[in-house]
Amino acid sequence: MENAPATVWDFLLNAKHLVILAFMLVGVVLLFIRGVNRWVRIGVLGAAFLLYGLDFVFPLHPSPVCATTKLFMFNITMGKVFPAFLALFLVMMVPSLFGRKLFCGWVCPLGAVQDLINKIPFRWRWKQFNFPVFNGIRFALLGLFFLTFYAIMRHVSWLGESVEADLSNQTWVAYQAYSVYEPINFFELLHWNIDWIWIVMMAVLVIASLMLYRPFCYAICPVGALTWLLERVAPARVRVNIDKCNECGVCAIKSPCPTIRPLFEGKRSNLPDCTSCGECLNTCPKDAIHFGVRERV
Ligand code: SF4
Ligand code: SF4
Repeated sequence: MENAPATVWDFLLNAKHLVILAFMLVGVVLLFIRGVNRWVRIGVLGAAFLLYGLDFVFPLHPSPVCATTKLFMFNITMGKVFPAFLALFLVMMVPSLFGRKLFCGWVCPLGAVQDLINKIPFRWRWKQFNFPVFNGIRFALLGLFFLTFYAIMRHVSWLGESVEADLSNQTWVAYQAYSVYEPINFFELLHWNIDWIWIVMMAVLVIASLMLYRPFCYAICPVGALTWLLERVAPARVRVNIDKCNECGVCAIKSPCPTIRPLFEGKRSNLPDCTSCGECLNTCPKDAIHFGVRERV
């Protein structure tokens, strides 16, 4: 008797995805009990990298670029949803509906690499970078991805009509060559195929991560873009009690991100990503910062 094809549930319940969910659960608990500090973060990020970034314990790392683009491309060109990509996409997105960017902050191996590199003291750190510019690039890439995909699909279809053959299955093959993410997909580094291109890309990632907090996430990643939209609805988040805060800026100095400053300044829109890393939670001398589903007085 033939085995039934694996469903989304089969993928969701495999060890790789269950451990991803466990990481996020641990993260949420630590955030609620304020059990996060720099060393806890280094431990969790290191573990996430070892499990998902070495192509060894769990081969085929959870790539946000594949989860987004391949899910879409296979669906449009082959007319079916591949359960493996859908499961991965759901695991990245659904927890982010509850807590801001839980996958990014507590699991993603490329996020972990950048975060760990950013913890190395570096003289030319640029914390308050122009987030709207980075975000604009990130969404422009996502828009370009869809635009070029449809343009190529039309072209392949026209080519198929010209030669009287069905070439639709070849669209995604053709698209690989033109994907806007192909030359800037730093996730490919985690396959550890070390050649000159790998060395150059790794050098770029290391230097950029020393200077900026999570440069790939802020400027390129499609999941980074989509979960930035979900940040608006996620109820569990870092919250600053504006009445307690005297804007001394200690949290901004001690935290790695560009987010906490606009948060305590009371900005509500166009905030840089908060990865729910929790590193700001215990930094406030006035105890004005907490992680929760509602404001605290
Ligand atoms: S935004 Fe960064 S941390 Fe989040 S999925 Fe993309 S690469 Fe990973
Ligand atoms: S505001 Fe910054 S330091 Fe605080 S949890 Fe978010 S990303 Fe981390």
